[in-house]
Amino acid sequence: DEQIERHDYDVVVIGAGGAGLRAAIEARLQGKRTAIISKSLFGKAHTVMAEGGCAASMGNANPNDNWQVHYRDTMRGGKFLNNWRMAELHAKEAPDRVWELETYGALFDRTKDGTISQRNFGGHTYPRLAHVGDRTGLELIRTLQQKVVSLQQEDLAETGDAESRIRVFHECTITELFTTDGAISGCFGYFRGDGRFVRFDAPAIVLATGGVGKSYSVTSNSWEYTGDGHALALRAGATLINMEFLQFHPTGMVWPPSVRGLLVTESVRGDGGVLRNTDGKRFMFEYVPDVFKEQYATSEEEGDRWYTDPDNNRRPPELLPRDEVARAINSEVKAGRGTEHGGVFLDVSTRLKPEEILKRLPSMHHQFKELADVDITKEPMEVGPTCHYVMGGVEVEPDTAMSKVPGLFAAGEVAGGMHGSNRLGGNSLSDLLVFGRRAGLHAAQHADTGRPAVAESDVAAALERAMLPFSSATAGGENPFVVQQELQKTMHELVGIIRKGDEMELALKKLEDIATRTRTVSVEGHRRFNPGWHLALDLRNMLLVALCTGKAALERQESRGGHTRDDFPVMDSDWRHLLLVCRAIGEDDVELTRQEQLPMRSDLFDLFESDELKKYYTGDELGGHRADSA
Ligand code: FAD
Repeated sequence: DEQIERHDYDVVVIGAGGAGLRAAIEARLQGKRTAIISKSLFGKAHTVMAEGGCAASMGNANPNDNWQVHYRDTMRGGKFLNNWRMAELHAKEAPDRVWELETYGALFDRTKDGTISQRNFGGHTYPRLAHVGDRTGLELIRTLQQKVVSLQQEDLAETGDAESRIRVFHECTITELFTTDGAISGCFGYFRGDGRFVRFDAPAIVLATGGVGKSYSVTSNSWEYTGDGHALALRAGATLINMEFLQFHPTGMVWPPSVRGLLVTESVRGDGGVLRNTDGKRFMFEYVPDVFKEQYATSEEEGDRWYTDPDNNRRPPELLPRDEVARAINSEVKAGRGTEHGGVFLDVSTRLKPEEILKRLPSMHHQFKELADVDITKEPMEVGPTCHYVMGGVEVEPDTAMSKVPGLFAAGEVAGGMHGSNRLGGNSLSDLLVFGRRAGLHAAQHADTGRPAVAESDVAAALERAMLPFSSATAGGENPFVVQQELQKTMHELVGIIRKGDEMELALKKLEDIATRTRTVSVEGHRRFNPGWHLALDLRNMLLVALCTGKAALERQESRGGHTRDDFPVMDSDWRHLLLVCRAIGEDDVELTRQEQLPMRSDLFDLFESDELKKYYTGDELGGHRADSA
């Protein structure tokens, strides 16, 4: 009989990136016994890789900034498909969350007069990103971890046990959530090192598992991002929204092949980097869409002046939202004006002095020198789009972060709604802090409402499923790495940055076949550190998430934000108010339904000019709204 380690907690947080840590800190501050679980080593999460900064309208660099301007920018970036209540909470609470980090010991870069310095980023009207050089995520994670340790020290002093109220379980992968009478009761997983199984019984669980990028062959995401949280939520009965919207970051490395997809931070453009094709042309001026025409420079001279005089000039088009820049680069390469490696040039050396580049972009300088033998203080970088971020995720109540399943909360990249069809750079770090805190708070409150018992039969079933790749039922099945590559290739080629109906139909057929093969992947050896086994279990999740993206992308017959259809190239107001909702059917299929968005509250609606709203809303919607507020 298999021994399963058991732990009981009030709140279990799955994921130790920014969202998970902030949630766990809040739950512990509310007096709850809290566990933090992470698949990789504690401290290694996507959050640590975030370079550019954390968006918050503190108004230090430009006093005209405030939450309303941030709110408007976020809604524009998401093409008005965002959950407006989440965007409102985010814009209002982000400055407090950044200040709070400083009280935990973070130290952001300063302006000359000693306030937190803020940098420009695509889609943000004013310099808004609080940052620490190009290593902001590292400071954020370091600070939150330090806060966890400091709370543990308080607990040690009070109870004699540092882990009595908050404990970290790392290199532990959760494979199953348990529900009892429809409400969360616990979860199940294994330790990666020795393969031992573990269950956590808890009435409240916060999913903070990050993204899904590993479903694509070219991605900035690392190995953990197989959409586990998205799939766990679906299987527990929760819903996902916006899964057709993936962000392809415009600038990933394209050469050498071993680092293809690795991120080149947007700060390079924020700090003055320009994009050129192989003819030497600054092509972004050709790609400013109508909805943004008034906000962007029409000449190189005006764009250049903006860096020193932003109040009297318009920003250069290199700083359009990411979806626009990624599509433009894609078009240039397709038109034969790209480099031999399929990229374009990004050059910061012509605008900034070498010492400035070394000060502002030290990691980028190091990355290119070490990995590509390119000195960015003298030469341009070669860049192209890379799968970066998933806007789609668990459908949650905006104020509490609770999903459709009582006791199941989601925050950070795994949650959907906040960013609509496209996320602005810098809005993720702030999202993690704002909604991480809210999820932790409401999970703590929920833990007081009762403690459903885990059904032993569910534990047995979870164990059996985890052991399946070793069992005789799958003997002779395929190697999971082969199936994973097939899935990545399918998504990259057929549901990638530019999509077509017939290609996506083909992708869904291929996914059916991949589903059959996934059910029977088999692995050799035993449970001691066995990456093949780990991947076999992750594959189920990748598959379910890929199905959501494929089905939703085929259904949405328009182009908006991170979803571009070659066969439906325009943004269509009749689609703006529709959310595509995914639910699991059985273990490895999903069904899709349409759901109306809640109309924006009228005081928020009134923050926009009618002329702008006309670009996004139908005439009927506009009439109705104005009538509402009258
Ligand atoms: P993550 O930080 O991704 O953490 C997820 C956690 O969940 C990890 O601890 C992981 O181990 C754990 N986990 C996953 N699955 C399981 C499982 N099954 N069981 C147990 N644990 C699990 N955003 C910005 O706002 N500004 C930036 O400058 C910026 N730069 C970026 C640069 C790069 C290279 C990348 C990849 C992203 C960047 N982003 C940036 C986006 C941002 O970093 C991420 O969206 C954000 O960090 C996600 O945080 P999170 O807390 O939701 O999850």
